[in-house]
Amino acid sequence: MRGIVFLDRDGTLIEEVGYLRDPSAVRILPGAAEASRLLSREGFLLAVVSNQAGLAKGKFTAVEMEAVHRAFLAAFETEGVVFDAVEYCPHHPEGAVEAYRRACGCRKPGTGLPDGILRRLRVPDSCPRFVVGDKMSDVSMGVRLGAATILVGTGYGNAENVSGERAGIAPDVFLPGMREAAGWIVSHGKDS
Ligand SMILES: [Mg+2]
Ligand SMILES: [Zn+2]
Repeated sequence: MRGIVFLDRDGTLIEEVGYLRDPSAVRILPGAAEASRLLSREGFLLAVVSNQAGLAKGKFTAVEMEAVHRAFLAAFETEGVVFDAVEYCPHHPEGAVEAYRRACGCRKPGTGLPDGILRRLRVPDSCPRFVVGDKMSDVSMGVRLGAATILVGTGYGNAENVSGERAGIAPDVFLPGMREAAGWIVSHGKDS
C-alpha cells in the first residue's frame, strides 16, 4: 500500500447540486472515475468521507440519502471503481431534525470519519495520507490528519480557493479536478 486518499464526494467525485436527494441526479465529474481507477491501480486505498448535513437540516430523509449512496456506488462500480470505505456525517449543530442535531466529531473539518477508517482498515501511522476536496473544510481536516491536501477547482473549489487565500489558509496544491489530483498524488508518492 502506497498511501490512503480521503476523497470528498459532492463537488469532487460527483457534481455538486446542493443537498443531493435524487439518485438520478448523481453525475460523475469528468475524469473522476478514471482518476480513482488510476489511484487504486497504483496501490492507494480510496476512502470517501462526506458531510451530509441535509439529513440534520431536513433537506432529505435517511431513505433518500441511502438511495443516493447506492446510486453513487453503482455509478462508480460501472466504471470499475470500488471504494475501500465510504462514510457520511449526517449531523449539524443547528439541525432541525433532533435525531441528527449534534456538535459531533465527524463533521468535517473534524477527523472522526477518517480516524475510524484508519483504525478499521488497520492503516499504519507511517502510511502517507492525502485529502482531495472542494472546500476549505476538506483542507482543514487534512491538515489535522497530517495529510497532503489538494483543493480541486470543481464544485465550490474556485470560490473556496479565493476565500481561503483571503483567510490565509492554503492547501498544499490547488488543481483543476480529480484527474490532476490523481496525477499529483502518484508523482508525489514516487518522490517520497
Ligand atoms: Mg464537496
Ligand atoms: Zn457527525
